[in-house]
Amino acid sequence: MTRTHCPYCALQCAMHLEPDPSGNLAVRPAQFPTNRGGLCRKGWTAAELLTTPERLTTPLLRTDTSSEFQPVDWDTALDHVARRMAQLRRFHGPDAVSVFGSGGLTNEKSYLLGKFARLALGTSQIDYNGRFCMSSAAAAGNRAFGLDRGMPFPLSDLGGAEVVLLAGANPAATMPPMMGHLTAPTLIVVDPRRSATAEQALARGGMHLAPRPGTDLALALGLLHVARVENLLDEDYIAERTTGFSEAWRHVAAWWPHRVEQLTGVPAADIHAAARLLGQAGSRYILTGRGCEQHSSGVDTVSAWINLALALGLPGRVGSGYGCITGQGNGQGGREHGQKADQLPGYRRIDDPEARDRVATAWGVDAGELPGPGRSAFELLDALGQDQGPRAMWLLGSNPAVSAPDAVRVRRRLAELDLFVVSDFVFSESCEYAHVVLPVAQWAEERGTMTNLEGRVLRRNQAVNPPAGVRTDLEVIRELAVRLGQPAERFPSEADAVLTELGAVTRGAPADYSGISARLAYRDGGRSTAGPSSGGPVAQPASYVAAEDAASVESTGEVASPDTGNELYWPAPVDGSGTPRLFLDSFAHPDGRARFLPVEHRPAAEAASPTFPLLATTGRVLGHYQSGAQTRRVPELAAADPETVVEMHPDTAARSGLRSGDQARVTSARGTTLARVRITAHSRRDTVFLPFHFAGAGAANNLTNPALDPTSRMPEFKVSAVRLEPVPAD
Ligand code: SF4
Repeated sequence: MTRTHCPYCALQCAMHLEPDPSGNLAVRPAQFPTNRGGLCRKGWTAAELLTTPERLTTPLLRTDTSSEFQPVDWDTALDHVARRMAQLRRFHGPDAVSVFGSGGLTNEKSYLLGKFARLALGTSQIDYNGRFCMSSAAAAGNRAFGLDRGMPFPLSDLGGAEVVLLAGANPAATMPPMMGHLTAPTLIVVDPRRSATAEQALARGGMHLAPRPGTDLALALGLLHVARVENLLDEDYIAERTTGFSEAWRHVAAWWPHRVEQLTGVPAADIHAAARLLGQAGSRYILTGRGCEQHSSGVDTVSAWINLALALGLPGRVGSGYGCITGQGNGQGGREHGQKADQLPGYRRIDDPEARDRVATAWGVDAGELPGPGRSAFELLDALGQDQGPRAMWLLGSNPAVSAPDAVRVRRRLAELDLFVVSDFVFSESCEYAHVVLPVAQWAEERGTMTNLEGRVLRRNQAVNPPAGVRTDLEVIRELAVRLGQPAERFPSEADAVLTELGAVTRGAPADYSGISARLAYRDGGRSTAGPSSGGPVAQPASYVAAEDAASVESTGEVASPDTGNELYWPAPVDGSGTPRLFLDSFAHPDGRARFLPVEHRPAAEAASPTFPLLATTGRVLGHYQSGAQTRRVPELAAADPETVVEMHPDTAARSGLRSGDQARVTSARGTTLARVRITAHSRRDTVFLPFHFAGAGAANNLTNPALDPTSRMPEFKVSAVRLEPVPAD
């Protein structure tokens, strides 16, 4: 039996994998502070990914995308990729080759991939799909607190709350075990939809505020307005721990509740009631999610919620706080270690001369050899194959043909590449545009660390060897680096060695892992003791799990360190302890104070019009994860949520000539999606909702708007103007 963590979301629920009577691995939930023995449907069925019949086990190669793929051996595939990358660099310069990573990659992969891009390719053109996911909250957290760790306190702190306001988050569907922490008697849910979380809030006597998509910033201003008028602010906290309140207030003063009601559609009485509930409670939290972030004003929207939290005196306190709920499995660690266009490992800025010096010295190169910042994710995808844009891309752990905004355009760009290389364990929709597909190991077939939504670094243990023919991402990075002329010792391919290096390189950085890497080291320091590529179970090495985990586990192997789980929260300097709760004494700005940011409502980039009279918003459903490339291949999940639905109010359906169960054509200025009609009286009449997990004609991102936030460069997934039409039955 192996104890490990779920392959999907940022809760990183713990589980055991053990052989069932048929010899396959089965999932059993494990105790862990985030999931406390619970798993969602996705976690329960995660082992099925390991035996999917659609598994890739041979590299595939074709010289042009009009021809058929041919299976080839690894040397042939890697030689071809390295040769073409080198050619394109020679002809067009180093930025001709780009890399696109993922918030699902382990910390070790994120780190080594960034190093590969900057040293082996010399390219600035690297970014990742986390840009679509958390970048607005990260930017807002950095500017308010001086440091971004999504949830700067343990999830268990929420258990003592009297009131929790959730803005743009739906954990009851996206990460159900988290609801075990949201036991506050009063939940206030801000979401244009009556989500599963909103239903739970109402069932408990809490509130659901349903603003028009794209207006949540104004709602936050309205709540702050009421809180001040009703003397609910923490004036001492504002004076002692913050700066900028007066300037920020100037942008709030005019947002009387009735004005907010006109814009958002949320009744003024509800705004008053919510502000009082939040302002008068003893222990309270404000949590934000993608619903606030995925806007062209996403950073300012998150800042508006942080301003409210600061005015009420919540951040940096025990028993109250502000946090952002990270989505992807390694959404937090994935943005800290160098696969982001503007960052170096340890959450250092790539344009910071001191940071460049430190990282370059650690890597044994001159700082001048490190490229500068590159394009953000959508801008990178949109530049592929264009004048001055990259001619090649290596894609890992992501599926932008389905998950990128304006996906029709992105698929067109992918098709224009001279070299498109995809590393994946199944043939995702993005592979359809590839020249080379590299079959790589998946979660339980390799070791690595993930940083969950609390900033807690945890070890994913290896339970089974990869099937014959499959390599790990770290091995592939090393092989390509060597073929591109890098010294082999610069690119270790063992996760433990990479983690040790990551720890050393991040020492003294904002995201300091130097203490964590030592605490999470395996005693045997190497790979599993099972035979290579057997595809069979791994004979467990003396593996380490944090003591906090080990206390609840019977047979996980020897614990290599007496550390407590609390020491695994970054920052964790090698000569100090970890930091479960940030900002208790001071914030990370030089003066120790948090910043109020003056923010103004800006309309979404696209408004409803006579041609496109409705607004579409997108999100997740219980059974699927991200682009669905994994979960659509799990039969139970595919059966539960087999296709795209479009959720709408009965009046909206009637106006469009649609009935429940009909097939609807949803059209925006960018494309069309076919979806099954689901009618719910709790929808807003001006808004429809679609999940984004499906491909082909049902891809919701055919509709979405790539308008970018000016700071985070996050696209506006949450607001697209659309029209509905019935699709005649055959
Ligand atoms: Fe837990 Fe998320 Fe996995 Fe569900 S998908 S079991 S909530 S980690």
